[in-house]
Amino acid sequence: MGNLDDPLRGVLGAKTAKVLSDSLDLHTVADMLGHYPRRYARRGELSDLSTLVEGEQVTIVAQVVEARKRTMRQRRGSFLEVAVTDGTGLITLTFFGRVVDHHARQLVPGKRGLFAGKVSSYRGKRQLAHPDYELVPDMEDASPEQARAFAEELIPVYPATAKLPSWKVARCVGIVLDHVGDVPDPLPEAVRRRHDLIPLAAALEGIHRPREDRDIARGRHRLKWDEAFLMQVALARRRQESQALPSRAWKGSPGRLLDAFDARLPFDLTDGQREVGESVAEGLDSAHPMHTLLQGDVGSGKTVVALRAMLRVVDSGGQAALLAPTEVLAQQHHRSIIQLMGPLAAGGRLDQAEHATSVALVTGSQSTKERRRALSDAASGAAGIVVGTHALLQENVSFAELGLVVVDEQHRFGVEQRDALRAKGADGRPHVLVMTATPIPRTVAMTVYGDLDVLALSQLPAGRAGITTHVVPAAERPHYLRRAWERVREEVGRGRQAFMVCPRIGDEDPTDQEPAPPTPEDEENPAESERRPPIGVVDLAAELMAGPLSDLRVAILHGRLSAEEKESVMRDFTAGAIDVLVATTVIEVGVDVPRASTMVIMDADRFGVSQLHQLRGRVGRGTEPGLCLLVTEFAEGTPARERLAAVASTTDGFELSRVDLEQRREGDVLGDAQSGRRSTVRLLALTRDEELIRHARDEATVLVAEDPTLTGYPDLNAALDRQLADTQADFLEKT
Ligand code: ADP
Ligand code: MG
Repeated sequence: MGNLDDPLRGVLGAKTAKVLSDSLDLHTVADMLGHYPRRYARRGELSDLSTLVEGEQVTIVAQVVEARKRTMRQRRGSFLEVAVTDGTGLITLTFFGRVVDHHARQLVPGKRGLFAGKVSSYRGKRQLAHPDYELVPDMEDASPEQARAFAEELIPVYPATAKLPSWKVARCVGIVLDHVGDVPDPLPEAVRRRHDLIPLAAALEGIHRPREDRDIARGRHRLKWDEAFLMQVALARRRQESQALPSRAWKGSPGRLLDAFDARLPFDLTDGQREVGESVAEGLDSAHPMHTLLQGDVGSGKTVVALRAMLRVVDSGGQAALLAPTEVLAQQHHRSIIQLMGPLAAGGRLDQAEHATSVALVTGSQSTKERRRALSDAASGAAGIVVGTHALLQENVSFAELGLVVVDEQHRFGVEQRDALRAKGADGRPHVLVMTATPIPRTVAMTVYGDLDVLALSQLPAGRAGITTHVVPAAERPHYLRRAWERVREEVGRGRQAFMVCPRIGDEDPTDQEPAPPTPEDEENPAESERRPPIGVVDLAAELMAGPLSDLRVAILHGRLSAEEKESVMRDFTAGAIDVLVATTVIEVGVDVPRASTMVIMDADRFGVSQLHQLRGRVGRGTEPGLCLLVTEFAEGTPARERLAAVASTTDGFELSRVDLEQRREGDVLGDAQSGRRSTVRLLALTRDEELIRHARDEATVLVAEDPTLTGYPDLNAALDRQLADTQADFLEKT
């Protein structure tokens, strides 16, 4: 009986194994069995030839109509032209050279078969040149039942390559299936029973050699379980390992900073802020590192929650670090924390309040003197709170007693960075609070963030006036754009301010920009290069200042400005000395200017759904109602327009994150490791399999709690090791 780790060489021979390894990256028996069919065909059922796309590698079921041998005009020799049909359309197969006679004998009119090759076109007609094929044997001697059974048999169609037509892959899989026989099953029997899952061997048989549709469905379902369960067991073990580590508990201390801070807060905490605050306090009070993801829609008041957690740690003699993704944001956090704390942040100064601490800022571009001062305050413990960018991660940054790491806007940071900061904790490991404003659908929370506890702030603080969003079709209705500029002027006339966001800086060499992440459009439109370049900040600002907004105070903000310039622009805008800020997405996260009421997003189709939602979250934060205009040249009915319409139709971040998720591939959501080589998530769909993932998570949690080393589950352990050795290692590192 064969083993899952057997190399294919021993089973299929060196030559075939090499082709499989070179063209499909399959090396072991397990790899081969995990190479699932893309779809299934029936012999009796013909493919729809009208859907064939030029350049694609296809496998079709078709019938020969006519075969003609012709002589070539230019050179000596002949070629064979075979017309095959799906019943309506035709496609031509062509063969050249010495094989012509051989194929002519095979491909006689009336024959049916599978044909595989690359679709090309010759003189306006689509053809397959030198296709591989497998003909269906004549059924003349068979009984009608036999003939029907044969015609209806399901044929797996595997992702094809030029070297290996689908049926050859199927033959290899068949040999491998026979070779391994009864494969060890990683799913514990009790789990299988509870969820009515067939054994692994049966599932593999069902997906690769189905006899009826039901076999495929049951096989797929069971194999999805494997994917979800293995992932969840790995995550549960990670959670458990981190819970086993020591950490200092920070109990807080009544009558000190936190109480004084609460007393001077100009507003009441929302119920959500209070509840989440209590959960976080509990986490900080634990002797094991807290590892929590705090999600809350833009403007839900996460910063206050984080600040209160930091103050608790400072009150008990520790320090807290706040890691921000951009310099603008770090500066803003630093500024607003100092403002919220008032005299409580004046530690080391004569006017300090009792128990006051100081809040240091560490960024990459500050002067040596400022930086030296901040670093020394962090190292000595004089600064209870240290705010910074990536610069905080560098080796020369040290803390006296780092107890809590807050990471703002997680999606900009990799896990390595979270870990680098965590390693600066003095004894044991600091607690970690990750904040994200991108609402995370439950399935993603259970997978990508599966090792974190998730807390959510669902309610917005009272008194928010809300935001209205419109799509502005600039191509169809140029006057709408003029109207948009008028609206901006009206808002400014009422003492408010506006943001305008462009996809790029402009005025530059094209390699040096802050591109929006590729949106689904980039794939929908292979002619991307033919689109005009996106509107740039510099150009738009110049145009507006020369024209429609010439009497307003317009300024620009983007990543190429120096830190001082950025800081001063943001300070002026916050102070109301600038009316209109034309910017790149540097303002995407966290920027908080209550007087800003209008957000115009140029070439909005260039941005993703979640990003648009983030951007518009910058306005309507005060008591003034917000207005967001999504400017696009895409026509009505295109997917891009529909996406923008979805953003305009709701401000429910969770609903939008679902739209976003549906438009991305699983690999993109799960991270690099998943999109790179063979993914460990092949059948599972994060949007559709929520219930399955939840069940798998529950089962995995119980199992790991009962048997942390999985000693009682050798087959599961082996499957995990195999996966770890494959891509999962990378994936877990990043999670
Ligand atoms: P986000 O969750 O997007 O980071 P912030 O923490 O920046 O949100 O809060 C947005 C704004 O709301 C800030 O100006 C903050 O001071 C204010 N805020 C926070 N909590 C409350 C509250 N409970 N009541 C009123 N305003 C609040
Ligand atoms: Mg924030």
